[in-house]
Amino acid sequence: MRAFALGFLRRGVLTINQGLSQQKQLLSTEYTPMEANTLLRKGEFLSKKPYEPPTWATSLNPIPSHKYSLAHLPTPIHKWNLPNLPKNTEVWIKRDDLSGMQLSGNKVRKLEFLMAEAKAQGADCVITIGGIQSNHCRATAVAAKYLNLDCYLILRTSKVLVDKDPGLTGNLLIERLVGAHVDLISKEEYAKIGSVTLGNLLKDRLISEGRKPYIIPVGGSNSLGTWGYIEATREIQQQVESEFGQGQLTDIAVACGSGGTIAGLALGSWLSNLGAKVLAFSVCDDPEYFYNYVQGLIDGLNAGISSRNIVDIRNAKGLGYAMNTADELEFVKEIAKKTGVVLDPVYSGKAVYGMLKDMAANPKDWEGRKILFIHTGGLLGLFDKAEQIAPTIGNWRRMELDESVPRSDGTGKMF
Ligand SMILES: *Cc1c(COP(=O)(O)O)cnc(C)c1O
Repeated sequence: MRAFALGFLRRGVLTINQGLSQQKQLLSTEYTPMEANTLLRKGEFLSKKPYEPPTWATSLNPIPSHKYSLAHLPTPIHKWNLPNLPKNTEVWIKRDDLSGMQLSGNKVRKLEFLMAEAKAQGADCVITIGGIQSNHCRATAVAAKYLNLDCYLILRTSKVLVDKDPGLTGNLLIERLVGAHVDLISKEEYAKIGSVTLGNLLKDRLISEGRKPYIIPVGGSNSLGTWGYIEATREIQQQVESEFGQGQLTDIAVACGSGGTIAGLALGSWLSNLGAKVLAFSVCDDPEYFYNYVQGLIDGLNAGISSRNIVDIRNAKGLGYAMNTADELEFVKEIAKKTGVVLDPVYSGKAVYGMLKDMAANPKDWEGRKILFIHTGGLLGLFDKAEQIAPTIGNWRRMELDESVPRSDGTGKMF
């Protein structure tokens, strides 16, 4: 593997025009292909480049012409020692929650393509829409500002809160810090009018003011955004080859909220012969809705395959979108405590909760499987749940101090 890695690297280094010192540095040390990629990509952050799809994806149509580099890639993969796994079941985790900070999670991968189109069309601002704690809206607001675009967000909240200042919890703090314009809308209005019309209303208003808006759909989930996770499949495939240990990857498990992530993964896994089944845990609408929605995304790329053949969608909605039972929150806390991985309660928390519940109920179905769970981010949304989680969290006390403890100086003076 190492020999292969170096061979790969030499070819890579010769063809990529880099500074001499960096070439030397790369050639004098053994790097895996992924590490080398990261090093070679230095300086590319926020740049726009022509897009070359993986060879296995060239049959799709249309293929995006350009893409921005917005995420910190590749995101790490590591083994995840979840409690109570069935015999011989391995779970690994891909940390797409570490794809950035303000610009974190799965949405940044879609935005790499969507923002390139916005710029190509000469937009001076972007519009998008989502729930009051939408991670997608936050990521879009940050990406927009990096690229010198204004950002307009339509955020859905409850009828009693729609006329009030939305506050600064979680994603809202970041959105408002970067100066996104926020238009609040009630859930009832959203249901009645629909996200497409709402976006178009704001678009027309902005055009009449002389602006050039570009609309990004809910969750960035259109056929163009789907390329984010087609491309992520290429990354997974390389990681599986270089750092994944023995045994075939049997499943890729992930939360599903607007469908773009699973559409990209399912298409990628099928076209690339990665051979992993994509297992989706829906956190809002029903599986039936998502089979149809994903079909639309796939058809938009002329892939000629049925969504039902390439993805298995399960219901993990629970009480409803962004609503949690005490049990789910306790679960998020337990996983954090046992493994150090903090799941968000709206997406990955529900997905892993659903997956482990099924493993407990049907252990035979899971035996021998090697699963890659994709952590899609959402940490900022967790702050919105602090009050609900508070009663389950202890672990603090006033430090006990004996009067006779002698003083000895540490570093720095705090007072
Ligand atoms: C949006 C989102 C998802 C779901 O991805 P979709 O492509 O919308 O299905 C999962 N996790 C987090 C944290 C998200 O913000």
